[in-house]
Amino acid sequence: MACQSTNGKKSTLMPLLSAASQPPSTAKNNSTPLQNSNLLDFIQSVIVSKQENKEPFYVLDLGVVASLMERWTRNLPNVRPFYAVKCNPDAPFLSAMAAHGSSFDCASRAEIEAVLSLGVSPNCVVFANPCKPVSHIEYAAEVGVNLTTFDSEFEVLKIRKHHPNCELLIRIKAPDDGDSSFPLGKKYGALPEEVEPLLRAAQAAQLRVVGVSFHIGSGARRADAYRTAIEAARKVFDTAAHIGLPKMRVLNLGGGFTSGGQLFEAAAETIKAAVTEYFGTEPGLTVMAEPGRFFAESVFTLATNIIGKRVRGGVREYWINDGIYGSMNFLLFEYVLLKPTPFACTSRPENPTCRGERTYMSTLFGPTCDACDVVFTEAEHQLPELELTDWLIFPNMGSYTRALASNFNGFSTGSSLTYLSYSNPS
Ligand SMILES: *Cc1c(COP(=O)(O)O)cnc(C)c1O
Repeated sequence: MACQSTNGKKSTLMPLLSAASQPPSTAKNNSTPLQNSNLLDFIQSVIVSKQENKEPFYVLDLGVVASLMERWTRNLPNVRPFYAVKCNPDAPFLSAMAAHGSSFDCASRAEIEAVLSLGVSPNCVVFANPCKPVSHIEYAAEVGVNLTTFDSEFEVLKIRKHHPNCELLIRIKAPDDGDSSFPLGKKYGALPEEVEPLLRAAQAAQLRVVGVSFHIGSGARRADAYRTAIEAARKVFDTAAHIGLPKMRVLNLGGGFTSGGQLFEAAAETIKAAVTEYFGTEPGLTVMAEPGRFFAESVFTLATNIIGKRVRGGVREYWINDGIYGSMNFLLFEYVLLKPTPFACTSRPENPTCRGERTYMSTLFGPTCDACDVVFTEAEHQLPELELTDWLIFPNMGSYTRALASNFNGFSTGSSLTYLSYSNPS
């Protein structure tokens, strides 16, 4: 990365375009060193010097990327991470992950292109979409992405025809979704009784099935779901040996990891114990995983600007320039109470975070003209008295946020700028 920290205290401010954006006036390639690692100071400097137009923007903290990678390696030293691009395809973030040695899980041609364009080797990509359009399979064959997943016989036929050298992982349905926020088992994964016919179909097609993959579901809350899934994977290895397939050698644990609290550490313990229990004697086993949320969630902070205000009785209503059709689309699928930090640099420059100030019942609206574009209602959260052009800062906005944004109503929040900072991870 061009963005470096000299002593861990300084940050480098460097406006970068996210993948889809191109406002040329802000696309300057200069960097301005900052004297303070504090994120709010950094955000303030962006607001003052770069965001005169008050568009929403993201800050990517490369120091947090580094500490998450360290945490992954410390807890799962033998599990190779393939970052799941769909969670957040921000180009500077993908670069940072590549620089830290991550491999990548891609689900489409465009995701593979994004990763290969960074100079990542096609050997470091798993095409982990069990049902792929033919044109995307042909592209994978052309560029040498030679590992993919499948869970249907029709996929076997497509791969045989368009990418016969591709190695396969059979995707199985995890027996338990770990109470995840986004279970995937309804759509993907072979059922136990489907495994043998699928392996035989691959065998008949002369394709190499090298291992097993699963995904317990995104945002899983119970670590023991990994144990039952690893046990199920063991059975598939045995079935493959039983029908005379060459020895399987890859176990893909999928995603489902989170970085908040200690759930990740619990998952890592469960995984290590289960791999030892079920695969302890397996020589040459490669264990991989496809973490998305774990790496993306806490590395991004979103700054939004207050573009409207109305006072009704005791309730303050604010409009900000990002919402349900932008970075907060996940609120349609999952209840999360977002609690932004006020940053009242317009109305309260002497106390921008409004420390110690009175708060009011407040509603927060997104910018579109849909009545469901609401971030929170007055019954859910309180804010201090804010004024037009003050800012609201949302931490932990990296996973399934901007990646899901649309251009509905002409608000293209998916193309907000990303600024890079480097905090000193504590
Ligand atoms: C979405 C997805 C992931 C990432 O899941 P997280 O819960 O964000 O870690 C990994 N693998 C596959 C196949 C996926 O579909």
